[in-house]
Amino acid sequence: MGPPGAGKGTQGELLASRFGIPRYSTGDILRAAGRDGSELGRKAQGYMDAGELVPDDVILGLMTRVLLSTDAGGGYLLDGFPRTVEQAEGLKDLLEAADQQLDAVLNLAVGDEEILRRLSSRRICEKCGAIVRPAAGTESCVTCGGHLATRPDDRPETVRRRLEVYREQTEPVLGWYRQSSTAVLDIPGTGDVGQVQERILSGLAS
Ligand code: AMP
Repeated sequence: MGPPGAGKGTQGELLASRFGIPRYSTGDILRAAGRDGSELGRKAQGYMDAGELVPDDVILGLMTRVLLSTDAGGGYLLDGFPRTVEQAEGLKDLLEAADQQLDAVLNLAVGDEEILRRLSSRRICEKCGAIVRPAAGTESCVTCGGHLATRPDDRPETVRRRLEVYREQTEPVLGWYRQSSTAVLDIPGTGDVGQVQERILSGLAS
């Protein structure tokens, strides 16, 4: 968990590859659905572009399908889900039904000014969906050659709305987990990628 631009995707990819487990990012799944023009993409696009959350029933339906189709033997990492208390309650029911346990909640903390700075330099590849912070003047994706563009929801006015939505709807999820018996690890998200990853790994080990 963490506000937009906290590094959930970057740190999540590193963790998933280190532990050899899948990472399920609701944001990535929704953007891919938007590129494919699927029904899910059509349902989600307007909310995403406006910086609002996609409705809970859509997200819970999506994650039910994802989690039912996964072989959870080695575990998995959830990135950007749950984002509301209702989603957290839905996840609890899903885990209970599947006889699975949530080991820990990772909360990446980054201040608003740093978020605005990070998101203004972030780009998305229109072809493969990679999210990158390219060197000045770089306009093509190093992986697939696709055009790099600003994510529609990374425009400053939309980022401000996403931050409000985060405070109003997502931060309460942390309180909800803190009251339960789930371990919540608060990780400062500032510094370079390797430093943050080290903090996460030592938090998980303790
Ligand atoms: P992200 O890539 O995680 O920053 O997500 C981008 C956007 O996708 C969010 O601003 C929401 O519009 C939507 N989204 C992603 N995950 C969720 C979720 N769990 N619940 C509702 N909307 C979501």
